[in-house]
Amino acid sequence: MSLFHPVNLVCPQCEAPVTMMAVGSVNADRRPDLREDILSDRFQDMSCEACSESFRLQPQFNYLDAGRGQWIAAMPANRLRDHLELEDEARELFSTSYGDAAPAAARDVGGGLAVRLTFGWPAVREKLLVRQLELDDVIVEMMKLHILRSVESVPLAEGIELRLTGTDDDTGGYVFAWLETASEQYIEYLTVPAELYEAIHANPDGWQAIRDRLETGPFVDMQKLYMGEGRAAG
Ligand SMILES: [Zn+2]
Repeated sequence: MSLFHPVNLVCPQCEAPVTMMAVGSVNADRRPDLREDILSDRFQDMSCEACSESFRLQPQFNYLDAGRGQWIAAMPANRLRDHLELEDEARELFSTSYGDAAPAAARDVGGGLAVRLTFGWPAVREKLLVRQLELDDVIVEMMKLHILRSVESVPLAEGIELRLTGTDDDTGGYVFAWLETASEQYIEYLTVPAELYEAIHANPDGWQAIRDRLETGPFVDMQKLYMGEGRAAG
């Protein structure tokens, strides 16, 4: 089931009261249209009836796609700093819903699910895209680390992130974008040859230490490597 609940907001432009239906959980097996909306960057978008300003509610929901083997705790962009605490919460919720603490039938579903935690819309959209392209999301994060080391100037700063946004039809390469997380403003795009993915994929030993650090919990994102001590790999 996909669950919605009403939330009362104030229009950021004209301060008129706005009520919208916020999603608490998304079941993409039953509501494939909601998955499409996330991929199309229009999920939880709305416009003010008084001034027609459009704005978007930040994500705060659980996403299940049993068919594609995905379970995601999608959190608002501004909770990023709490990633360790929210990893624990996500693992516990998954455990009671589909993991060790769930009924047998739910555990059967849970066995095929990759558990992830994301912050902001671009990150959850990216996880769906990575799955659609049948890529390993850990390798996609490694590609980003490679990009950071390879380009001369990067607009890396708090609130700015690098996301896979699609593939290039002409070259088959992967298109990444630097963007501002909260506003979803795209700053610049770059295309990376598909061979980079293959090269990392073909060298698991060389990347094992990085993989261990990216897989310490459900927050599989290179941003965690830049935020404090984090969690010990192990
Ligand atoms: Zn308004």
